[in-house]
Amino acid sequence: RANSSAEQAKIWELRRAALGLTMSKKGGDAKGISFIEDTAVAPAHLAEYIEKLQAILAKYETEAGFYAHASVGLLHIRPVINLKFSTGVERFAAIADEVADLVLAYGGALSGEHGDGLVRAPFQERMFGPTLYNAFCELKAVFDPENLFNPGKIVNAPPLTENLRFGASYQTPVQATAFDFDDYGGVLRAAEQCSGVGACRQTGSGTMCPSYMATREEKDSTRGRANSLRLALNGQLSELGLADPELREVMALCLECKACASECPTGVDMARLKSEFQHQYRQQYGGSWRERVLGEMATLSRWGSRLAPVSNWLMAP
Ligand code: SF4
Repeated sequence: RANSSAEQAKIWELRRAALGLTMSKKGGDAKGISFIEDTAVAPAHLAEYIEKLQAILAKYETEAGFYAHASVGLLHIRPVINLKFSTGVERFAAIADEVADLVLAYGGALSGEHGDGLVRAPFQERMFGPTLYNAFCELKAVFDPENLFNPGKIVNAPPLTENLRFGASYQTPVQATAFDFDDYGGVLRAAEQCSGVGACRQTGSGTMCPSYMATREEKDSTRGRANSLRLALNGQLSELGLADPELREVMALCLECKACASECPTGVDMARLKSEFQHQYRQQYGGSWRERVLGEMATLSRWGSRLAPVSNWLMAP
């Protein structure tokens, strides 16, 4: 029992670290993915539900990280799957499908805490039954006849395997870098480390991400930068890779404060990525005159010292 506030703080700290512990796997392409992540059943069924859930995961030879709000029967589950192979994509779809049936067999909820999004939308009709589901569709058609708002969420969902970031055709080219990204398995995998969870868009606590806190623009968040870098590195922006000029604006406001390296639940280290970007950008285009002056500061200072009367005269207010 945690009676003192210091003991309670330790429990909260463990709670905050839990997300990172289930998602921060570095190196390799298998990742903890949040697609059956907040299923809930009545607490009385929880033990039996977990046993059957583990049997589904074992059937698909898949490990998973679990943490729970056990008192209310809610589980956060991150199956570790490599979505760069078709077998991974098949496992992802099959596990989601079987877990949806299992949850509903216990009268539970597929999303006990979070939103439904694209990963739960394909199961809405199963969850609510055809009458309610059709009512959702009618309501959507009345208020959004042109299907402009969040298309595919809740109703008329695309198949689960559409809109995936990865897939069997996704390429992970190996690229030479000035900085060492071996701990991630290369620079592209360092950018892919972002799972899209969006913890960098918080504004009420923590340090990550100061540029997003200032502008509230997605492009100025750690996630916005990681996504842009990933697209540039796997050639979806252009063949210039990290030297793509479009990246310059996205990276400009990153302070390289390294807050993301310690606070991002998946351990994205944007400061190292920005340094690599700057190196490759300057290899391609050179630096601005201001950057070159700052880069030669030691030499300039030596000459400034030798010519002290002139330097002092030039810098006099
Ligand atoms: S290093 Fe850059 S991306 Fe990471 S928290 Fe700091 S400003 Fe944001």
